[in-house]
Amino acid sequence: MTSPTQTPYRSNPKFEVDLAAIQQLAEKVDLNKLVHVANQLDAAELGQLLRQATAAKKAHTPPPVNSDFYGVFADLDPDLQEKVKLWRNFLNTEIVPIANEYWEKGEFPMEVLPKLGDIVREITDGAPYQFPPADPVKFATLFSLEMGRLEPSFGTFWGVQWGLCLGSIYMFGSEEQKAKWIEPLYHFEKVGSWALTEPTNGSDAAMGLQTTAERQGDTWILNGQKKWSGNAPFADVNVIWAKDTADGQVKGFLVELDNPGYHVEKLEGKISKRIVQNALITLDNCQISEADRLPGVHSFRDVGRQLAAARSMVAWEAVGVAMGAYEKALDYANNRIQFGKPITSYQMVQQQFVEMLGHITAMQAMVMQLTRVDLREGHISHERASLAKAYCSARLREVVAMARGVLGGNGILLDHDVARFFADAEAVYSYEGTYEMNTLIVGRAITGQSAFV
Ligand SMILES: Cc1cc2nc3c(=O)[nH]c(=O)nc-3n(C[C@H](O)[C@H](O)[C@H](O)COP(=O)(O)OP(=O)(O)OC[C@H]3O[C@@H](n4cnc5c(N)ncnc54)[C@H](O)[C@@H]3O)c2cc1C
Repeated sequence: MTSPTQTPYRSNPKFEVDLAAIQQLAEKVDLNKLVHVANQLDAAELGQLLRQATAAKKAHTPPPVNSDFYGVFADLDPDLQEKVKLWRNFLNTEIVPIANEYWEKGEFPMEVLPKLGDIVREITDGAPYQFPPADPVKFATLFSLEMGRLEPSFGTFWGVQWGLCLGSIYMFGSEEQKAKWIEPLYHFEKVGSWALTEPTNGSDAAMGLQTTAERQGDTWILNGQKKWSGNAPFADVNVIWAKDTADGQVKGFLVELDNPGYHVEKLEGKISKRIVQNALITLDNCQISEADRLPGVHSFRDVGRQLAAARSMVAWEAVGVAMGAYEKALDYANNRIQFGKPITSYQMVQQQFVEMLGHITAMQAMVMQLTRVDLREGHISHERASLAKAYCSARLREVVAMARGVLGGNGILLDHDVARFFADAEAVYSYEGTYEMNTLIVGRAITGQSAFV
């Protein structure tokens, strides 16, 4: 008798036997019966049986990847669903194929701007610009969510252009300013940016703004520095927030790129949202006409109204990025074979996908309800927007970390897109109010006590 630990056939390469595999098989089937049946078959029949068994194993086709497990978006208006398809197709054709290349270079693909104008006309049915949007579900689903899902940097470019820059002009601008800027910015004939944060003041911008605006007749003199302003290196117009030296209130100014007192330096070395061009701006006795001051802004409270709208869109963006990372990772894992089987067949891998999906489903339900409540009540609540932004950006970080891990080493290569989502989530976590700032806003609302300082 040969004991199972002895390997009498190993010396003959024709009979290489995997004893561990046989032991595993013996735990599942009666090996004596199996050998008995096999002995009844001739070589041709045995070959056919083996081919069938292999084909059955290969034929396992995973179900389609679906990040909307509860159908949160399934009952959207059919017209909106058509628009989403159109928009998704545009992004998949024009933007996604070049995303990794531009992300790595840290450049923005200027050549897509004219195409953006055309597709915007098509998917908005020529409707005029409005902010906050009249149909926030449509706006958020099409733009914040879909762009986050397919190309997050591009979503940020869009958010700065449409939400922050155009939103400021729409909400606070004079009729002349609106006539000059809204159409060209809406259709990407011009590019816009927005600058609140400073090198020394980010989270405390509401109270600590250092940039000054001094009125001299019909001219304002701006001095100071702004950090981070998105799109600024090539934006035609930037909405600059500065403190009036006379009354100490924050005011908004439209500053054009060719203004001699306006100096823009691209921020280099970013590890997140590399397609977005952020800038360090120096305002050196920058002269702005009174006609270029936003007349609708009287204090920081006005800026805050706009920030709440933008913040809820960033919560939607976080959901999109999480969905994109999950979809790409599951697709990869379904096709990644280790130990002879797709890695999705292993319990620990499945557990991670289920955890990701749970987070995503909670986030989807949260932002959809946030938007519906805001619509029903006719205004965007700071506290609700902050809770969604804080919660969704924190869950996003967890989702992209798991998605990236599931890809193993490939999770840190741009090739499979998940690395881009992983890195881009870091910016989402910090902009439009950091996780802590948004948490403090909600904390103040539920306790009646401000814990900011
Ligand atoms: C990719 C990107 C794009 C951006 N685009 C723009 C733009 O277009 N325009 C613009 O104006 N800005 C932009 N920003 C700036 C962004 O809004 C700020 O980075 C953000 O508000 C945080 O400010 P900060 O970076 O100065 O961090 P800080 O305010 O220095 O915060 C550092 C840390 O301290 C924590 N912290 C601070 N105060 C407290 C407190 N009281 N209690 C607890 N924790 C606290 C913060 O939560 C954070 O974790 C962008 C940023 C990024 C990363």
